[in-house]
Amino acid sequence: MTAVSNIYPTASLQAIDAAHHIHPFTDTKELNEEGTRIITRADGVWLTDSDGNRIMDGMAGLWCVQVGHGRPEIADAVHKQMSELSYYNTFFKTTHPPVVALAEKLAQLAPPHMNHVFFCSSGSEANDTVFRMVRHYWAQMGKPEKQVIIGRWNGYHGSTVAGTSLGGMKAMHEQGNMPIPGVHHVDQPYWFGEGGDMSSDEFGIHVARKLVQAIDEIGEDKVAAFIAEPIQGAGGVIIPPETYWPEVKRILKERDILFVADEVICGFGRLGTWFGSEYFGLEPDLMPIAKGLSSGYLPIGGVLVSDRVCEGLIDKGGEFYHGYTYSGHPACAAAALANLEIMESENLIGYVADDIGPYLQQRWKALGDHPLVGEARMVGLMGAIELVPNKGDRSVKFAHEGSVGTMCRDLSFQNGLVMRAVRDSMIISPPLVLSHEEADLLVATTKKTLDATYNELKRTGQV
Ligand code: PMP
Repeated sequence: MTAVSNIYPTASLQAIDAAHHIHPFTDTKELNEEGTRIITRADGVWLTDSDGNRIMDGMAGLWCVQVGHGRPEIADAVHKQMSELSYYNTFFKTTHPPVVALAEKLAQLAPPHMNHVFFCSSGSEANDTVFRMVRHYWAQMGKPEKQVIIGRWNGYHGSTVAGTSLGGMKAMHEQGNMPIPGVHHVDQPYWFGEGGDMSSDEFGIHVARKLVQAIDEIGEDKVAAFIAEPIQGAGGVIIPPETYWPEVKRILKERDILFVADEVICGFGRLGTWFGSEYFGLEPDLMPIAKGLSSGYLPIGGVLVSDRVCEGLIDKGGEFYHGYTYSGHPACAAAALANLEIMESENLIGYVADDIGPYLQQRWKALGDHPLVGEARMVGLMGAIELVPNKGDRSVKFAHEGSVGTMCRDLSFQNGLVMRAVRDSMIISPPLVLSHEEADLLVATTKKTLDATYNELKRTGQV
């Protein structure tokens, strides 16, 4: 079979794309004027575009390709599964071998108090499931008035209606009158951006206590759950101050509220642990998962459910009127199983925790010496660099928020590295199979890109 990229040259593909394709999270009019990039192949941490350029994938796709691109083991497992049973549903008293095996595997990998999983196809669907599941749980437990879910400003939980509402992205809320009723947001633990004169530790406690205030204002008897990412990803790789999670944990222990740790990014080795909750010692009641579960080879997500929640959801009986045609899709489950097998056989968790993680972190954090960098931070293989006009002063920001980040991102791409810009911070989250040589190249390319950005800002009088 001939690949489409071999039939059409780049310009034709761009023209057809512009004529017919609406891209996610994109100003389509602007993109169509510029023309999109076309990625035709990928292997390991490397992407190849339609003009034959090789580019390092510093974002593991969208934070998901843990085992690297192009693994034949996953392709073979999916092929085999599709040849045997390409699709059947899991409604109506039916199941199939790959979904059974995956549920068992996830129960083994999850913290000991989580032994069940509900499947879906994405992180957004996982959070829609969470939304419905926590309300259903409280109704089953005889407390139907517990309805409010507390999320955080600048948190990200997907782009469906529930995901957008639970997340705290103001630009998303402004489109279509979000959040829906019953969602409340509290401040995020973003010390670099919002810590003011407080030390990082003081700020961690200060922000955590906003949660108590919110619970008291709303009334504990009305609050169903608190949802948060262990480390905010799309919000800008926001690593909370060390004091934050212990204080939030303490607060949640005192209150009769479910805790949802959104593991869509932090799960499956990103922080050098199977789940971000393990890294921070959290004890969530629910964990939405997706992305790294299948390394993005096929779409699959889920919600890991604690024994406590199962008391309401299962033990009390009654149907939970919720599910998706593709809940536990056999081919997707086979992809996830093959992916987890690679992660285990290659000890990718240990590699991130003890080898490539510390190796890259040390070099990445050294970029903090650059005149354009206010802070360089990283946990596991998830890092950010804050670009600032005045290195000595966190409170000074660039005039047009986001424009320097975008410039730096575009220069990075030209230099052969995909980084993501969030406001004026640069984000990386490479595949977990990154080698030492590739880590060196990633850092060298970032340094080169920072230099180029700095020179351009000097030339235009912005620093
Ligand atoms: N939760 C988190 C923490 C995420 O980062 C994302 C996606 N970036 C989602 C949920 C939504 O996942 P999806 O895009 O698969 O719907």
